[in-house]
Amino acid sequence: MDALDGNAIAGELFAAFGHEMTTVVGRCTNCRASSAIAELRVYVSGPGTVARCPGCASVAIVIAHGSTRFAAYQLGD
Ligand SMILES: [Zn+2]
Repeated sequence: MDALDGNAIAGELFAAFGHEMTTVVGRCTNCRASSAIAELRVYVSGPGTVARCPGCASVAIVIAHGSTRFAAYQLGD
């Protein structure tokens, strides 16, 4: 599977954080390399998306699709 760059998750991150996130720099907790979110290697498949460190390929971000929440619906009424 070919990887995309971090721009592939720009829309989902914007929806989650409310502002542009691809220029935000983070540090890999495994290899300690710094990189912008746009530089992460993104794999889109099935129910989720995984963004990996460009240096060591450790998982940096997981975005799960199709989660279910009960926000305004109470069970057991
Ligand atoms: Zn790394």
